[in-house]
Amino acid sequence: MMKASPPANDNAKVKAAPACAICGRPRVEKYTPFCSSRCADVDLYRWLNGKYAIPASEEPDEDSRDVRLEDE
Ligand SMILES: [Zn+2]
Repeated sequence: MMKASPPANDNAKVKAAPACAICGRPRVEKYTPFCSSRCADVDLYRWLNGKYAIPASEEPDEDSRDVRLEDE
């Protein structure tokens, strides 16, 4: 008797999951294209401050980026 193994395509699909536009973590469908409401807020916050209008000359490390947005 042979045991059926899960299709390899499933794994590839998971790996190809799009990343959060803010922090790069796997995004959540509910908050697409972000991983959480917090990242969505961060994006909105940046838009409101016009920071997206600035050309990307500074490219900080994602991990060292500390966004202060605690008041929800
Ligand atoms: Zn995120």
